[in-house]
Amino acid sequence: MVIRFRDYGKRLSDFEEEILVRCPQCDAYGRLRLRTAKILTVNSEQSSLGSIKRISCQHCSYTKQQSNAAKGKPALLLWQNNYMAQRNSSYGILDHFFGLPLWLQTSCCGQVLWAYNEAHLNFLESYVQSRLRERLPDDTLGWHNGSLASRLPRWIKLTQHQEKVLQKIQQLKHRL
Ligand SMILES: [Zn+2]
Repeated sequence: MVIRFRDYGKRLSDFEEEILVRCPQCDAYGRLRLRTAKILTVNSEQSSLGSIKRISCQHCSYTKQQSNAAKGKPALLLWQNNYMAQRNSSYGILDHFFGLPLWLQTSCCGQVLWAYNEAHLNFLESYVQSRLRERLPDDTLGWHNGSLASRLPRWIKLTQHQEKVLQKIQQLKHRL
């Protein structure tokens, strides 16, 4: 059976609503949900949309909040750099809002396979499972190469890594 993967131009930022990271307070099993809430910032003459990033641990009392999202690097750029860089940190890949280690990450094919959350894992899984990949134009942008699927690192796309990557994705799913 041919499994089709349709690239609807999903971007990494589409998965940023919730990022699972390791809790800096209770560490081992702490699962944090980073929620991006849209807020309305009212200046003297104009109002603009901002966002608040809030971390709250489900296992301990740890909470942290950050409101200036503008300081963050473009997510996709950072994501690619994370994939390319040889990370020496024992914590591996860090989230780009608070610098906390991602909860869903594991070594795979000499690289680090990571995801923000379950939806992101499912996205990677359906991509890797697919034998036939196709791209569709974005509703607003038309054809573009900013989509997550088009920017995935080569090692994830290699057929010989398919089985291993899928196996690791399953392992990460067990951490959810
Ligand atoms: Zn905690």
